[in-house]
Amino acid sequence: MKICIVGGGLTGLVAAFRLGPGHEVDLYEKRDHLGGCLSSYHINGYWLEEFYHHCFSGDSDLFSLMKELSIDDCLEWLNGTTGYYSNNTIYPLSSPLEILKYPELSLADKMRLALIVMKAKRMDAGDLDQVTARDFILESLGEKIYRSFFEPLLVSKFGENRDRVSAAWLISRVAIRSNRGLSGERLGYLRGGFQTLVNALESSIGKHSVVRLNDPVETLEKDMHGWRVNGRLYDTGVSTLPPHQLGVPGLAAAPRIPYQGAACMAIGLERDISDGIYWLNMKDPAPYGAVVSHTNFVPKDRYGEHIVYLASYFSGKLPPHIDTRMFEDFCSRFDVSGSEVHWKRLAVEPLAGPVYTTGYRDLIPEYASHGLYFAGMFSAPNYPERSMNGAVVAGNEVAALIERTEGR
Ligand SMILES: Cc1cc2nc3c(=O)[nH]c(=O)nc-3n(C[C@H](O)[C@H](O)[C@H](O)COP(=O)(O)OP(=O)(O)OC[C@H]3O[C@@H](n4cnc5c(N)ncnc54)[C@H](O)[C@@H]3O)c2cc1C
Repeated sequence: MKICIVGGGLTGLVAAFRLGPGHEVDLYEKRDHLGGCLSSYHINGYWLEEFYHHCFSGDSDLFSLMKELSIDDCLEWLNGTTGYYSNNTIYPLSSPLEILKYPELSLADKMRLALIVMKAKRMDAGDLDQVTARDFILESLGEKIYRSFFEPLLVSKFGENRDRVSAAWLISRVAIRSNRGLSGERLGYLRGGFQTLVNALESSIGKHSVVRLNDPVETLEKDMHGWRVNGRLYDTGVSTLPPHQLGVPGLAAAPRIPYQGAACMAIGLERDISDGIYWLNMKDPAPYGAVVSHTNFVPKDRYGEHIVYLASYFSGKLPPHIDTRMFEDFCSRFDVSGSEVHWKRLAVEPLAGPVYTTGYRDLIPEYASHGLYFAGMFSAPNYPERSMNGAVVAGNEVAALIERTEGR
């Protein structure tokens, strides 16, 4: 069977990896390289993700794939510490003692917070899909806990969309992420960066399939012979883009999945600016929601310099002058002089992930729809959070479905 796969991000790569050996597969990617949101820069002799990435201990499908590709020995487990930036001060918040010392919440607030974290694991998130996270927290824990704890988290994940996010999303996330150790969370990283995974997939796919770089797909047109894509004919296709992104007959009337963009500035630096903390949520207003110090997670000696990401999300158009605003704010806030900055790069992805609004769960599409297949960040395995593991599961599942239904 001739199959086209649209999008050379992780979902498309995994689908091609599975389908390539048994079918004629063409993988279309609009950029000049593969990886999508998992793309990396090659800079100063090392690979660095355009957007900060780590994996979690429960990412079993991702680990199985790494094993199949014989790169599982590159996986390492490192400590990911967190903190809050509030009133121009960095507060570490990884260990129980640090949390106890956090002055922005009273002891009673902290106990109520701990209680809801414990309860989250037993709550039925489905009941909370129509309630916003904001209303839910305001009602159950009050304004203080919302402003001092949850709002900065929501800002770092959703920016200006924070008030649209559902309580179902929040509770599911809290339940997944509350298994922390005494000094932080164990997070996974690949030696050589996640480019190691993209490279391994690319070389394996290249043995069976055609990778078409710089080849954007705008429409998938059906005719009596099959699906026509950029002048070529296929029996079927998999789109890893949000369903409305491609002109697919009949899809215009289907409900749209709300998406947000990400703008992320990576900076090579002379020194650490976040007191050894990996993930710093900004409670003070700033043109970024989090400062992610990569080299407070992966040892700095691998790079020979400190690396920091400034993370922000936006909806609609990229905010004007975002790069200048981010950089100037960062330098003045953390007292960084021009001579301490080795380099900086801004990565922008307009389709960086769904916004998990109220009612989102009803929008999740089936893999098979309108005579085609759709799998990606919007698919069920990526709820409540799109992730590398979710991309691997979606790629695996859509390929298996195609084999079952069409691959005779
Ligand atoms: C800021 C950020 C941080 C993240 N951090 C983590 C993390 O720490 N841990 C984790 O597990 N996950 C993380 N993720 C999520 C993870 O990167 C994604 O879930 C995963 O990479 C999605 O893969 P995908 O293939 O579904 O989508 P994408 O990566 O978006 O791939 C889609 C591909 O389609 C291509 N394309 C678009 N339009 C066309 C067209 N018309 N024709 C052809 N090709 C087209 C794009 O260029 C892209 O390569 C993060 C994502 C972002 C944005």
